[in-house]
Amino acid sequence: MARFDSADLPRGNPCAQCGKPIAKPDWVEQDGGRIFYLWHCRACDYRFEAIAIYPEHGSEQAPLAA
Ligand SMILES: [Zn+2]
Repeated sequence: MARFDSADLPRGNPCAQCGKPIAKPDWVEQDGGRIFYLWHCRACDYRFEAIAIYPEHGSEQAPLAA
């Protein structure tokens, strides 16, 4: 599994349940051009996933956050 520089991780993602910002994802997993982030809100103990889809090589578009 690839390792990720923490500087590349999304930060401050709002909780899907209570809306409080979460500093960083608990778990990150890459599958081809998709990166799965598992977030855990410590305020309400809610867990949810977010998927970032990165465009194919050669594209100048910024990553799309789901
Ligand atoms: Zn929450």
